[in-house]
Amino acid sequence: MTSDATAFEPDVAAAGSKPPTPISIIGMSGLRDIIIVSTSLALLYALVALIWSGSPLMVLGVVALGLFYWTFLEYILHRWMLHWEPEKKHYKLIRKCFPSHRSHHNDPMKERMNIMLQLKITVYLSVVYTAFMWVIGVPLPVTLALNAGVLLGYQAYEYVHVACHHLPMRNAWAARLKRHHAIHHHRDETANFGVTTTIWDSVFRTTWKPAKARQAA
Ligand SMILES: [Zn+2]
Ligand SMILES: [Zn+2]
Repeated sequence: MTSDATAFEPDVAAAGSKPPTPISIIGMSGLRDIIIVSTSLALLYALVALIWSGSPLMVLGVVALGLFYWTFLEYILHRWMLHWEPEKKHYKLIRKCFPSHRSHHNDPMKERMNIMLQLKITVYLSVVYTAFMWVIGVPLPVTLALNAGVLLGYQAYEYVHVACHHLPMRNAWAARLKRHHAIHHHRDETANFGVTTTIWDSVFRTTWKPAKARQAA
């Protein structure tokens, strides 16, 4: 088992290829499609919210709130959906409707094959969620602006996740995220579920700690 973030460094010399850059990774793991679809949908939602409400400040504020809300969704989806591996047959059937996360853990450097399924689920949930919020009485511009923020957060998550696996990420903040995610892969799958932020692991006390520190806590 590899022990730190260097586990994610691409073997460029062996492959005889150019090192990945922040731009070139957009061509990996379906990121281009994710960015195009999510941005288009987010812009459409934000535009309708703006025309409907006539309040740019409200739209900007709620989009920012949606971005933050995404970080929470990212944590709960990764912890309780992607790592859900049920034993019972009917639960296994439900689990099959969602992308496999086990294959990513088995080979983190491999390009993900199920990304389009993930994108379709995201778009579908976004439309269902918007309709649901509207039905329960939340003003449509608020729902749409929140959804726009969530979609922008989702694509940021996909980008940061691919970057964690394929870029060196040398600056302090980025290196911290890379190490946080590497520990989730190589030390403890029951810790460090956050990818774009570590705050929810702190809130839910799932930040990985060395065994000694855990015993003392
Ligand atoms: Zn990963
Ligand atoms: Zn995981």
